[in-house]
Amino acid sequence: MKIVPMKLLCASAVAVGISAGLVSCSDSDAASVPQVVAAAYPFAFVADQVGGDAIEVHNLTSPGVEPHDVELPPQQLADLSDADLIIVEGGFQPAVDDGLEQIAPTGEVIDVARVVTLQDAPAEATLDPHIWLDPQRMVALTNAVAGRVASLTPDRASEVRDNARRLIDALHELDAAYRSGLADCTRRTFVTSHAAFGYLAARYDLEMVSVVGLDPTVEPSPAEQAAIADTVTREGVTTIFTETLVSSAVAETIADETGARVRTLDPIEGLTEETSDETYLTLMRANLVALRQANGCS
Ligand SMILES: [Zn+2]
Repeated sequence: MKIVPMKLLCASAVAVGISAGLVSCSDSDAASVPQVVAAAYPFAFVADQVGGDAIEVHNLTSPGVEPHDVELPPQQLADLSDADLIIVEGGFQPAVDDGLEQIAPTGEVIDVARVVTLQDAPAEATLDPHIWLDPQRMVALTNAVAGRVASLTPDRASEVRDNARRLIDALHELDAAYRSGLADCTRRTFVTSHAAFGYLAARYDLEMVSVVGLDPTVEPSPAEQAAIADTVTREGVTTIFTETLVSSAVAETIADETGARVRTLDPIEGLTEETSDETYLTLMRANLVALRQANGCS
């Protein structure tokens, strides 16, 4: 995958005359392919799969950074204003929302929150941003991105449409695997670290209990922690899921108290050093295996 960190947005850096001391761009880097900026990994994944080498995709969230908390230095804001296409989700990353308000982007903006229907966040008076954990919503996003990318690359539009069709086929296969893989399970409750899996739970008729809410950095009170431990015991939950970009201390405490084991369920908000060879599709498959095992699915 050739998603590159934001600081290497070469074509736009050259366009605004930034010296090579700040941004090192070779001649080939600065080739005039459309520059697409995605605010987080799942959106960058879609753009990269759809655009292939007809575009250059930049992820605003560096690998290993939790995207809810991403911060944008002034240089990244300048780069953002020159992108040909920006893919963001309003309400997901406050720093990105603020940044877009400060600048006047010259390129088109896809707001994911306007492409798919959002649902309420579990137990919070806000909308849930984690739409990528529903393969069917990812199909809608793929169609929207393909339309814009095809219009940015008119001589390669049919190739872009073919790429989009391949990704949509893979997303439909993923959806079917989840549907059949989670149809017949001993338990339907699963316990996660932050409340990222609301769309997945709704799509496949599971019940998510999260240790923290939508914001991964807010820890539960002792009373909330005790209530989760009670649910784990009452429902016979075997596994407390933790994730790659967030501390697992509280989840491990609850697991210790209840005798449950700790496993990883990746909210796929970003790749880490350990998952750098994975993709959205392979991580979703690994999540399905983990959910089936935890919930005793046949
Ligand atoms: Zn999240």
